[in-house]
Amino acid sequence: MKIQNYINGEFLPPIANGWIDNYNPAIGEVYGQIPNSTKEDVEKAYEAAENAFASWSNTTLATRSKILSKIAELIKEKLPLLAAAESKDNGKPISLAKTIDIPRAAANFQFYANAITQFSSEAHESIGLNAVNFTLRQPIGVVACISPWNLPLYLFTWKIAPAIASGNCVVAKPSEITPMTAFLLAEICNEAGLPKGVLNIVHGLGTTTGQAIVEHPNIKAISFTGGTKTGAHIASVAAPMFKKLSLELGGKNPNIIFADCDYEKMLATTVRSSFANQGQICLCGSRILVEEKIYEKFKKDFIKKVSELKIGNPSEENIHIGALVSKEHLEKVKSYIDIAEDEGGKVLFGGNKVTIIDCENGYYLQPTIIEVKSNKCRLNQEEIFGPVVTIMPFKIDEEALQLANDVKYGLSSTLWTNNLKRTMQFSKQLHTGIVWVNTWMLRDLRTPFGGQKASGIGREGGFEALRFFTEPKNICIQYE
Ligand code: NAD
Repeated sequence: MKIQNYINGEFLPPIANGWIDNYNPAIGEVYGQIPNSTKEDVEKAYEAAENAFASWSNTTLATRSKILSKIAELIKEKLPLLAAAESKDNGKPISLAKTIDIPRAAANFQFYANAITQFSSEAHESIGLNAVNFTLRQPIGVVACISPWNLPLYLFTWKIAPAIASGNCVVAKPSEITPMTAFLLAEICNEAGLPKGVLNIVHGLGTTTGQAIVEHPNIKAISFTGGTKTGAHIASVAAPMFKKLSLELGGKNPNIIFADCDYEKMLATTVRSSFANQGQICLCGSRILVEEKIYEKFKKDFIKKVSELKIGNPSEENIHIGALVSKEHLEKVKSYIDIAEDEGGKVLFGGNKVTIIDCENGYYLQPTIIEVKSNKCRLNQEEIFGPVVTIMPFKIDEEALQLANDVKYGLSSTLWTNNLKRTMQFSKQLHTGIVWVNTWMLRDLRTPFGGQKASGIGREGGFEALRFFTEPKNICIQYE
């Protein structure tokens, strides 16, 4: 099947007729093709967005809200189709696509359908000067949304929904590795009555299509989620043009476990936070730090639970771990396991590729637990982004905090304790954008979402995203 670009409400092939193969990671075979769009396609998408802007930015909030709600409704209606497409494109278990990815994509639209009707700006009265200031928050114009492959529709819509809710028109690019649900979303947008040109989706490689979007002089803001290296590159291209940037980048998140935690809840959640979506979630807790007192017990129990996870064809309902997203990614993740021993680490569980009957060429890897001696090793310092976690013990709070913060990344952290004083001390001192205490990945869409340090700049979520996608303007009126 050939996916098409979505420009001005129409489905179009790439102008230069360049195509890229699309793989099904469960079986390691090509099952379709996607456009490798060039500068010309991006220009066409930009023009469609620019033409739609005057009208869309003047559309009432009630109308915008209604269209976004309709998109949410249609996503829910088409959940089985979208979940199957996501699982096939990405390798994730169908159960995960059905319960997390697709419901969240619908929730993103529903949330911003409501949020835009509640968004407000400030007024400041300059007392004694007979003046009043108010802040106009106006849409920026044409903006770009670029997203990664790990949670394809979930993260794509997390950007698009606030961008269009606040009156912008969008040129968007999903990952070339997982383009299918973005393509299906385009059909949904037409069905929901989204006016032509408000959302335009161009498919293609980061280095061609993505680069053309970032370089476009009139695309004024870029909301990007992806790797830290790509984020740095995009910042270097965008900065001289003074584009507004939101960058959600990589992570190397600590999962800090104290002996006084609710042990069973911690254990079950830690299995999830380590290996959900084959460990390919930027929020996964890939460095597990355990208080020495319970270290040996945790090690034993954790290995047992992880050994019970079922790896298999992602289209089957009862599996826990599907395929990694691509052959290249599988090799990258495996290369970290291969250096474990040279780095003084010991593979406690897993470490091998897995062959699944009838899916012999799929990209499967065992969930892998590596015990490390130091936080300085590459396994603990570099983002692996696969089903690989490291574990190491710590003795006291200060040591745990120091280890947790001793990486270049700062996306999220998880803390397991029932001690209130410790909870507050860690919450204040952890250098991460999100701190989960006695839970993981509990998301309230009103909260600010994003990372510190090399995990990015800016925040998504709630009104933060609406602030990003609008330009504040101070109006000062003096009266007699
Ligand atoms: P990636 O950086 O390779 O690609 C992300 C997107 O950027 C893709 O659409 C890609 O085509 C595009 N791209 C690549 N080069 C580009 C360029 N020069 N100009 C413009 N666009 C370009 O990332 P990935 O491998 O798809 O995703 C995995 C990474 O994403 C991991 O590092 C993960 O931690 C991160 N991530 C972060 C968050 C977060 O919220 N912080 C969420 C999910 C994933």
